[in-house]
Amino acid sequence: MQVKGGKGPFICFVLGGPGSGKGTQCAKIVKNYGLTHLSAGELLRREIASNSEYGTTILNTIKEGKIVPSEVTVSLIQKEMESSDSKKFLIDGFPRSEENRAAFERIMGAEPDIVLFFDCPEEEMVNRVLNRNEGRVDDNIDTVRKRLQVFKALNLPVINYYARRGKLYTINAVGTVDEIFEQVRAVFAALKLVTE
Ligand code: UDP
Ligand code: MG
Repeated sequence: MQVKGGKGPFICFVLGGPGSGKGTQCAKIVKNYGLTHLSAGELLRREIASNSEYGTTILNTIKEGKIVPSEVTVSLIQKEMESSDSKKFLIDGFPRSEENRAAFERIMGAEPDIVLFFDCPEEEMVNRVLNRNEGRVDDNIDTVRKRLQVFKALNLPVINYYARRGKLYTINAVGTVDEIFEQVRAVFAALKLVTE
């Protein structure tokens, strides 16, 4: 796959606070539209599990609800994209800051075609995270509070940036999985290129 230079693949970023349903909806997008799903959080957790040189730093950052250095995350995403033959990617949970966004653009030489934002009230996000029992080190009340602060301070500016660029599609993330997916479907239905 060629990203830098020429016409690259279709890229959709998926943003939203912790517990807003990004992963759940991404699974449905993959099933319906065949995009290749790259969850930045999963790539980082895989890196911890593989005892890589950055594992300890990543683990400590995630426990604190902070953002892993851009170079680390972008290089994991880059490796996945460059070793794939896919022409359409769903990048979930990234970029989490303006710095993340700038690093991706600089290193990959690419921008997203569209950005989905799962908009969910804080209380609902907290309830979902505390009830999902996935055994994650960061799904506890203290870390969730920190993640929400980081989301508001650093991720919302990225969301606003893409709104200004006309690339943002806001999804009301309250409702059943299927109700929410109907809104996602409407976005993809308007983009013939990815459904063909
Ligand atoms: N994370 C990060 N950079 C990323 C994606 C994730 O630093 O690009 C870290 C961050 O500490 C975050 C954690 O991984 O709080 C979990 O992210 P994920 O997207 O899996 O979870 P969510 O916040 O959506 O529940
Ligand atoms: Mg996730």
